[in-house]
Amino acid sequence: MIGFEIRGKEDVGLRYDVPMPKLHMNEVLIKIKYCGICGSDTHQYHTGIQLQSGGKPYILGHELVGQVVEINCDSELPYKVGDWVTGRPYFSCGICDNCRTGHESICEGGIKLMTLADEGNGAYAEYCKLPAKVVFPLREGIDLKIAALTEPLAVAVYDVRRSGLEPGQSVLISGGGVIGGMIASYCKFLGVKVVVSEPNENRIAFLKSLGIQTFNPMKENVIEEAKKWNGGKLFDVTFECCGAQASYDLCLNATRRGGTFMFVGVTTQNRELYVRHVLVYQMTIIGVNMYETRDYYRATQIVNEGLMDEDLSKFVTHVYPLEDAYNAFMKAMDPEGKQVKVLLDCEVNHDK
Ligand SMILES: [Zn+2]
Ligand SMILES: [Zn+2]
Repeated sequence: MIGFEIRGKEDVGLRYDVPMPKLHMNEVLIKIKYCGICGSDTHQYHTGIQLQSGGKPYILGHELVGQVVEINCDSELPYKVGDWVTGRPYFSCGICDNCRTGHESICEGGIKLMTLADEGNGAYAEYCKLPAKVVFPLREGIDLKIAALTEPLAVAVYDVRRSGLEPGQSVLISGGGVIGGMIASYCKFLGVKVVVSEPNENRIAFLKSLGIQTFNPMKENVIEEAKKWNGGKLFDVTFECCGAQASYDLCLNATRRGGTFMFVGVTTQNRELYVRHVLVYQMTIIGVNMYETRDYYRATQIVNEGLMDEDLSKFVTHVYPLEDAYNAFMKAMDPEGKQVKVLLDCEVNHDK
């Protein structure tokens, strides 16, 4: 089958002889329809392949929607061959203390993204496999492009849950890309007052189309303006979704006394934080990575019920065929920022 792999730093391309995933016990084979291109994938483009892979190339992709084609499981499942599904795209050991208490994303053995699955591959491909217990059925007739957003929505569900945010509270998000935008949209859905700091005009226009208030750090003093907008108060929760030093500074200074500062943005750099301010403000700082199964389940429910469809439908701006994955990948990294979520259509016509 065809897949799109990463071979090294700034080295990605199609592979035509990817072996079909081999099902182990309690695993499910999925024929992929759409897979979203994630910022974490394009991040690897710049940093090179993950250490976990042992230096070997691998197929990227983890934001999938597809159809069940084979099930290797004795227990009864809430889906059958032919059903549309999405799935939590990582493997965890299932037996360590963290896994057993439902905190799979901090599996003691380290989580293994599906891209590095044993005899499997990521979802920029025609087929992939996942553990049966983390595959979730989608309702018939669902908009499959919206369903492809279940994974980034699960990130928002998890991050907001971990923040302890409550309806009526206020949020400032720094960085209005897919994850920042997804958290903002989910906050809006929950009845939370939300504002986003974002410098890119195209992204600002996108956030405005969701009805979200924005401020531009290149043009205005975001803290002052956002505080004014928030009735003169600092924010209950801030989400750092960009990874830049200026963004950490902004969130630190926008968080109220006793508030919570969420580390969401991916960075491999050391960042500075004025610790004295954290102490005096008695701030809570929380780091997040991926999500737990319960969050994926919740995101699937929201998608299945169509609760956020109006916003979610605006996130998908581009769809490329799998064979054109390279251009899709470049589009996803376009600094102009006219794209929001770029999807790959992984259904390959082998007859042409
Ligand atoms: Zn992702
Ligand atoms: Zn574990």
